[in-house]
Amino acid sequence: MLKTNFHTHTARCGHASGTDEEYVLAAIKAGIKTLGFSDHTPYNVPEEGIRMPMDQYTDYVSSIRSLQEKYKDQITIYIGLEAEFYEDQWETLRNYRNELDYIILGQHRLSVQGLHSSRITDGKDLMVYADLIEGACRHGLCDYICHPDLVMYNYPRTDDSVRALAARLADISLKYNMPMEINCGSGVINKPRVYEDGVRPGYPQRVFFEEFARKKCPVIIGLDVHDPEWFLTDTYLNRAMAILEGLDLNLLTDFDLPAAAAERKKTFY
Ligand SMILES: [Zn+2]
Ligand SMILES: [Zn+2]
Repeated sequence: MLKTNFHTHTARCGHASGTDEEYVLAAIKAGIKTLGFSDHTPYNVPEEGIRMPMDQYTDYVSSIRSLQEKYKDQITIYIGLEAEFYEDQWETLRNYRNELDYIILGQHRLSVQGLHSSRITDGKDLMVYADLIEGACRHGLCDYICHPDLVMYNYPRTDDSVRALAARLADISLKYNMPMEINCGSGVINKPRVYEDGVRPGYPQRVFFEEFARKKCPVIIGLDVHDPEWFLTDTYLNRAMAILEGLDLNLLTDFDLPAAAAERKKTFY
């Protein structure tokens, strides 16, 4: 159903399966015309099973660049990363930003070895999460925000802190013209979660997208593929979209993210 997906992992992160070429072939079979790879960013602090080891980065780039050439008549391929805004990794991030076609921000932790965003249970940490996302946007580091609602995975309920976060992310999106992702990965693949105020998938969380719809923030779909087979089903996409049914979203389709990234890089500092 989708023609474009910029959120694709490779086995290098340690929790995805298949070869790079299998992802490309599955994407072609699924009718994808524009495919972006965005594996989990390597930092000088390794985290096995979570992110690409630093010594595999060169191979990542050369492998995707060669597939880009090999399949250029069938599919357009771009190479990026799914990064976090970690200030102590700035030199590393700067190099990736300069070298790659685009960067998407998946703010998985509050610092490189700090609290995982999906484990937040305290409202104060929600604003730390928002500060990091705003920092990335202010610096021109990233081209869209992955699973902005990741913090809801273990957060016990939709309370005023959550609504304040949703409002703040919407304002950030408007200020920086930053697309917010409808993520079709773990949040809808894993079984629904039990919250104090109901049972629902971890993400997408409708309360965020109500705010994004109300303020007409740009929204983009990301498949967050960790297995080539995921390209061949619409199940997870349909689950994610069912959560958002009836919302008047400003949904970007076939968005030229690399062109937007080229512009944004001019503001990077
Ligand atoms: Zn992952
Ligand atoms: Zn991802």
